[in-house]
Amino acid sequence: MKAEEVLAQLKERFPGEPEYYQAVGEVLRTIEDEYNRHPEFEETNLVERLCIPDRIVQFRVTWTDDAGRVRTNMGYRIQHSNAIGPYKGGIRFHASVNPSILKFLAFEQTFKNSLTTLPMGGAKGGSDFSPRGKSKNEVMRFCQAFVTELWRNIGPDTDVPAGDIGVGGREVGFMFGMYKKLTREFTGTFTGKGRDFGGSLIRPEATGYGNVYFLQEMLKTRGEDVKGKSVLISGAGNVAQYTAEKVLQLGGKVLTMSDSDGYIYDPDGIDREKLDYIMELKNDYRGRIKEYADKYGCKYVAKARPWGEKADIALPCATQNEINGDEARTLVANGVIAVSEGANMPSTAEAVSVFQEARILYCPGKASNAGGVSVSGLEMSQNSERLSWSAEEVDHRLHEIMCNIHASCVKYGRQPDGYIDYVKGANIAGFMKVARAMMAQGIV
Ligand code: NDP
Repeated sequence: MKAEEVLAQLKERFPGEPEYYQAVGEVLRTIEDEYNRHPEFEETNLVERLCIPDRIVQFRVTWTDDAGRVRTNMGYRIQHSNAIGPYKGGIRFHASVNPSILKFLAFEQTFKNSLTTLPMGGAKGGSDFSPRGKSKNEVMRFCQAFVTELWRNIGPDTDVPAGDIGVGGREVGFMFGMYKKLTREFTGTFTGKGRDFGGSLIRPEATGYGNVYFLQEMLKTRGEDVKGKSVLISGAGNVAQYTAEKVLQLGGKVLTMSDSDGYIYDPDGIDREKLDYIMELKNDYRGRIKEYADKYGCKYVAKARPWGEKADIALPCATQNEINGDEARTLVANGVIAVSEGANMPSTAEAVSVFQEARILYCPGKASNAGGVSVSGLEMSQNSERLSWSAEEVDHRLHEIMCNIHASCVKYGRQPDGYIDYVKGANIAGFMKVARAMMAQGIV
């Protein structure tokens, strides 16, 4: 297998999908040597079967807004691989959603889910519907219309969706309600459900907490700790909020958070009380991060990202490609020692090279943000046994899973000079399990 040749062929077959090529290219380049050590992989064209999703479901979603206008959006579900378990992955509602972005996310999800050690395949779905500025009833009608199309393709042993950008507990609740009505069954088909109807404790916290647990493990390899470190966080949604919460619990200082309009910089640090304000602002009032700066009188920079500020650690938690090569160089020049990704693929390929060449601690989202889907996997287990575990138990398991993922990355990623290439480590560890399962299941 030659990574560049496979990539060139995929570009020709599937034109106009840059995010998909970016994710596939990064994985193929890092697994190339390992793949070629197994001639049986090439004999069954494993690489193409691994890169091309099993199935793409695409549909029109029709709903009515509060003014009575009939609106349409596109809906998608990419079922990438069920080699090691039912398809599993979030649903994203954002104006930017397109097949390329969902294909990259479903591809990444397959390796991430493999890394968690839990039996979950990879999938992703979503719509170009933007919840921004929509009323609660509009969001509910949209979710119901979306599931009216999607429901035939999902199920507790088939495909289990969850949240992602624009889809939190509220949206999962609306989708689950409609799914239940259509199927007349109460099953664990969605994760991230409300606590009163099968949702796992710690699921809302899981991605952010897991990201910081992973960061702790990385820092340990250099005899460092989160305590006393200054931290830049991007985003102000689910992942950013609980990343900030865990950093605070461990004695770190959070200097920035952001949304799609700009970022705030608080030199005194975003403490518990201020974080509570952000959670209320974003989760209840659906307001803008600028309101934080107005309330606490700190700096707000419109239409910008926080990577020009000086700190010890950077935790991108908003969206893909939010750190470019120049921003990565600035972070390194400002003395950042670690970057742990809460978001999926927030660093461009150039930014990743900058971090790795500077030999700073850098972990890709497919390992460091795997805590969310891990607790989703634990939610599926709890639903199957019709029991719910305590917050302490789930958090303990989450911590253990993140430590195991870190160990897998170290196992496959340690370089001759001692540097840990977490990209290579995560990709090879995730890939080998999926590849072995595919080989054992024949050519399907
Ligand atoms: P949310 O919708 O809760 O929050 C997203 C945040 O990022 C918001 O602050 C949003 O700003 C900002 N944002 C979204 N799109 C853009 C953009 N194009 N440019 C700038 N800012 C943007 O989503 P999550 O916190 O759930 O997800 C954040 C990231 O984490 C995504 O990459 C997601 O795939 C990844 N992830 C999420 C998991 C989960 O469990 N939720 C699990 C693993 C990964 P605004 O308020 O203006 O919209």
